Amino acid sequence: MPKIADYELWFVTGSQHLYGPETLQQVAADSTEIAKALDASSAIPVKVVFKPVLVSTESVSELVAAANNTPRCIGLVTWCHTFSPSKMWINGLKVLQKPAVHLHTQYNRDIPWASIDMDFMNLNQAAHGDREHGFIWTRLRKDRKVIVGHWKDEKVQAKIGAFARAALAWADWQGAKFVRFGDNMRDVAVTDGDKVSAQYKFGFSVDYYAVGDLVKRIDAVGDQQIDDLIAEYTDAYALTADVKKGGNHYASVRDAAKIELGMRAFLKEVGAKGYTNTFQDLHGMKQLPGIGSQRLMAEGYGFGAEGDWKTAALVRAVKTMTTGLAGGTSFIEDYTYHLDPANPCNLAAHMLEVCPSIADGKPKLEVHPLGIGGKEDPARLVFDSVAGPATAATLIDMGNRFRLIVDEVDVIKPPHPMPNLPVARAMWKARPDFETAAMAWILAGGAHHSAFSLAATTEMLEDFATIAGIEFVIIDADTKIRDFKQTLRTNEVYYALSQGWAI
Ligand code: MN
Repeated sequence: MPKIADYELWFVTGSQHLYGPETLQQVAADSTEIAKALDASSAIPVKVVFKPVLVSTESVSELVAAANNTPRCIGLVTWCHTFSPSKMWINGLKVLQKPAVHLHTQYNRDIPWASIDMDFMNLNQAAHGDREHGFIWTRLRKDRKVIVGHWKDEKVQAKIGAFARAALAWADWQGAKFVRFGDNMRDVAVTDGDKVSAQYKFGFSVDYYAVGDLVKRIDAVGDQQIDDLIAEYTDAYALTADVKKGGNHYASVRDAAKIELGMRAFLKEVGAKGYTNTFQDLHGMKQLPGIGSQRLMAEGYGFGAEGDWKTAALVRAVKTMTTGLAGGTSFIEDYTYHLDPANPCNLAAHMLEVCPSIADGKPKLEVHPLGIGGKEDPARLVFDSVAGPATAATLIDMGNRFRLIVDEVDVIKPPHPMPNLPVARAMWKARPDFETAAMAWILAGGAHHSAFSLAATTEMLEDFATIAGIEFVIIDADTKIRDFKQTLRTNEVYYALSQGWAI
């Protein structure tokens, strides 16, 4: 995972020559103070770096060129302490490749009632300077986040923090490689999509690798490595007698460990940030990877089952944006429902591959038959998810654009034990209610797979969609189906007109 503290937001203040050097010095001093305070804020996980005040077309263009060419710069925070005529921003903003937030703030919080004069007014005029600034972003059709409020306000800093997390995930996607072991599951539509469009829009590539080459890597794993990994399993998980040495499932656990080691080595050699596999293409592998995929996800790899590369990439992005926060993130699937009208809820799980970062307590390591794929019994970690508010996000390919759908959910402790269910799971109640949420998700074309997170917020995911320039659809406490349907129709027209022939 990227080291979050190595990355920077550049704090950029717009002004102009008209005010003279003294005012510009004051603008620089105030902006430096604001940048330092934001840098020190625990709500903002990356560095905030002050940049010299911009007063000309040339200075904006130079700043943008530097930002574009500095990998550690993940985005800009812009504001205008004074008035900053926005024509000087056109050439720079036209070529800006980095995410941006327009912070509409003011150095002073309060009006100094007794001393306010015209000098004060001219120095502290973000109220109209930022309107000129906002116009040029809008006029150029450049999307950005706008945050309004005093820079010391914790809510304002939290919003910058959410943007920084989304920008970090975006930076992590640029040039990323996602590996497909095997192709998409036969005949399945939603897990497929246009990988050329995805690379153009998102910056990551999705490349096929032969399962046979992975098997060769798995076969090269030595016994000592397997012993060491099993010692790790024994420390981290609860093991019953059958999966321990001498037990009738011990050989299956060793096979699973060998697969995990081979996959990890392969992904490292390729430099991948995530992968997909499919139970239909496991030639030469003894089991469908269970515990291996679960543990690789816990290390930060994106994962998508059945060839679902969009979800693999999204899981990686959500893991990146939630770095260092409490609460895990996993690939998951809407699996089955409890349709009691008094307490409807979703039981989400997968055949095997749910990330233990969401586990409530110590996962159990178990081996059971798998009724699909025709392979030997796979080892897997079994647990319930931590309860609490969470998000489920799905990324779909609409043909002319990508759409990110997010449902806010509340994970609950299952009302009854499920002793015969041999997979990890999360049980949740979707907002605003079961019926509306499922209807909206289906109307929007959401997949059965999602990136599920107890740490990612709607704000981070919406910022991420804004940065990516893709459609964002939210299902939350305010969702009403009639409005929701109209939003989908309106978006259809908007994207057809705004993007023309989609790439
Ligand atoms: Mn699935």
